Amino acid sequence: MDGQKSTLLIVDDERFNLNVLTELLEPDYEILLAKNGKQALQRAQSSMPPDLILLDIMMPDMDGYQVLRHLKANPFTADIPVIFVTAMNNVEDEARGFALGAVDYLTKPISPPIVQARVRTHLTLRRGLLRERQLNAELHLLNSRLADQNEQLRSLNMTLKNMAMVDGLTGIANRRRFDDFVQQEWNRSRRGHEWMSLILMDIDYFKPFNDHYGHTAGDHCLKQVAQSLASALPRSADLVARYGGEEFVCVLPGTPGDGLLQVGNRLQAAVRALYLPHDHSKVAKHVTLSLGGISLVPQEAWLVEDMIKQADQQLYRAKEAGRNRLMTTTFTQH
Ligand SMILES: [Mg+2]
Repeated sequence: MDGQKSTLLIVDDERFNLNVLTELLEPDYEILLAKNGKQALQRAQSSMPPDLILLDIMMPDMDGYQVLRHLKANPFTADIPVIFVTAMNNVEDEARGFALGAVDYLTKPISPPIVQARVRTHLTLRRGLLRERQLNAELHLLNSRLADQNEQLRSLNMTLKNMAMVDGLTGIANRRRFDDFVQQEWNRSRRGHEWMSLILMDIDYFKPFNDHYGHTAGDHCLKQVAQSLASALPRSADLVARYGGEEFVCVLPGTPGDGLLQVGNRLQAAVRALYLPHDHSKVAKHVTLSLGGISLVPQEAWLVEDMIKQADQQLYRAKEAGRNRLMTTTFTQH
């Protein structure tokens, strides 16, 4: 019995009946008494509601049916099991009681063992029901915690995925992200017979910069250059990535040769506009870029590596020609 006695509310307008039932049930249960319907409803709605109600039908003012209807209409008391106890022995009355939601029916004169057995049975059923509800509530809570944790895992996963795609020093896309992106855009352009462009960039005289200003200054320079390149490429379809060391790359889907020139000039200007002092450059007093670009419509027989190789050749030409400049080429199908 969970260590604690269940509480029964006995409702009857006759003192004698209350006494008989109390005597019978008092050894096993906490007993509450009510001598009319109004009192019964008050007791049932108290802060310590009964676990079960034994309810007389024939009472003045408010009969047992009315009391039951009130109990069922109130969510606070609707679940308390009610057993009718009455002198009436009439099938229609029983049916009416059950229809209103009574769980059982006892007739007077009462039989002590039957009363005890019915009370015990319905209290057991009720305990089972309450336990089930509690378990369901706990299950619900666990499920929602699990959902929260799944959400956290999902977001952690996304963070990890993003970290795997981002260059740790500069915060822009890394080489791996570039490799994925350029292949994907290559395939797309080939399918759609569309232009795409690619630019490889190198910071001029970066080794002397590092040697003279130190690695911390070198890192700072790489970050500044990366951020200025990213800001100069506002189109979300484009990608700028760190290609390695002091090399950067940008991919321009849907962009033909004239667009390539515009973007290349803009990138070069963006870095120049930083005016990062560079006393050991042979081409300027500040940090500059050499750029090599290519525009093409990818053909079946070509590989993405060919495009990168061609951009690299243009970058080489730019360096050969004195650095701090953009060289481009355009490939068309023959
Ligand atoms: Mg009565």
